[in-house]
Amino acid sequence: MAMRAAMHHAGATALSQLLQGNPPGAEEREISCPCGQKARYREMRSRHLLTVVGEIGFLRPWYLCSQCHNGQFPADAALDIEKLELSPGVRRMLALIGSEAPFDHGRRQIQLLAGLEVTAKAVERTAEAIGGHIAQGERRELQRAVQLELPVIVGEPIPILYIQMDGTGIPVVKKETVGRQGKTEGRPAHTREVKLGCVFTQTTWDKEGYPIRAPDSTTYTGAIENADAFGKRLYLEAWNRGWNRAVKKAVIGDGAEWIWNNADLHFPGAIQIVDLYHARQHLWDVARRLHPNDDMNQKAWITVHQKRLLDKGKIEKLVLALRSINPATPEVADQIRIEADYFEKNAERMRYPKFRRQHLFVGSGVIEAGCKTVIGARLKQSGMFWTLRGANAIIALRCCYLNNRFEDYWDARRAA
Ligand SMILES: [Zn+2]
Repeated sequence: MAMRAAMHHAGATALSQLLQGNPPGAEEREISCPCGQKARYREMRSRHLLTVVGEIGFLRPWYLCSQCHNGQFPADAALDIEKLELSPGVRRMLALIGSEAPFDHGRRQIQLLAGLEVTAKAVERTAEAIGGHIAQGERRELQRAVQLELPVIVGEPIPILYIQMDGTGIPVVKKETVGRQGKTEGRPAHTREVKLGCVFTQTTWDKEGYPIRAPDSTTYTGAIENADAFGKRLYLEAWNRGWNRAVKKAVIGDGAEWIWNNADLHFPGAIQIVDLYHARQHLWDVARRLHPNDDMNQKAWITVHQKRLLDKGKIEKLVLALRSINPATPEVADQIRIEADYFEKNAERMRYPKFRRQHLFVGSGVIEAGCKTVIGARLKQSGMFWTLRGANAIIALRCCYLNNRFEDYWDARRAA
């Protein structure tokens, strides 16, 4: 560690010398100002910067416009350090660490692993600025998607492409829930729903005919936003993943209405599948209502209705069976009617044997795991309260990193 500190020190000295600017020559003393006039070289000004090898200092030329009185440092713009105290290398570290762990935890890790002294606030600001910038780029791309200007991506046909979506609540600060009803009536909401989507592909199945997900094929996208904005976002992700060259397409989700509205609107032609395990959960709810505190009868009821009807895709028979139940109380009758409606409405999305014959997935396990790893692991830790802006920036950052696009972001930034 002592050797590393010495190397950092030597590196900082070398870097300071490397970045040390000189007064411009006679023919470079004027540059254009954004106002349209010319800015003239005035003097050399000093600059401090925290880099991956520590604090450095150097001089660079300063230009001033006599028309609008705005000063500029062209060297800062070229180095991507305009109005920033941290070098791109440090910002990249802080963004990554801030996307992975609470900001103060990140501060300590940077100190230990990189030998850099930063504040938790700097980790937070940097991670949110980079995440916000990534989200901004996505919005620009979305705008082009809405105007149907997306480039067609050529490549091999994809045998099966899946889209899954789900929602998960994260705790937010008070101002983000003003006027919103909580889950319990009369109590304010403490959370906002993150909508998360994923896209993955399948090229084969195992000996028993069960589907195998293509390794490393899953990408995520998500945000706290309304269903319509989210639908467009997920469409863009699917497009970038080869929607137009997928031979077979499937959308899998639970019974939530916004999911199927989005599937109809943005993913026409896709096979719609209600997650089998959610559907089974609905049957269990019925079983518990019909036979409260009676395990034996609950299980017997499930055996008949799940194994013989739901799993076999015989939804019309299942609905008929539910509607012919004579419940003990009006309350239970209401609940069972709601469940019968749920199965009736989703019947075509529950033809499980048909889906199985095509070697398709029938569960939304991938997106549920995504809700835990992409969102929960970072945004649902105890004592955390997010602003929408902060949460959306961190979600964009996490998706970018998990989708293996973090390096692309920095490459694009360097090229800009
Ligand atoms: Zn000017």
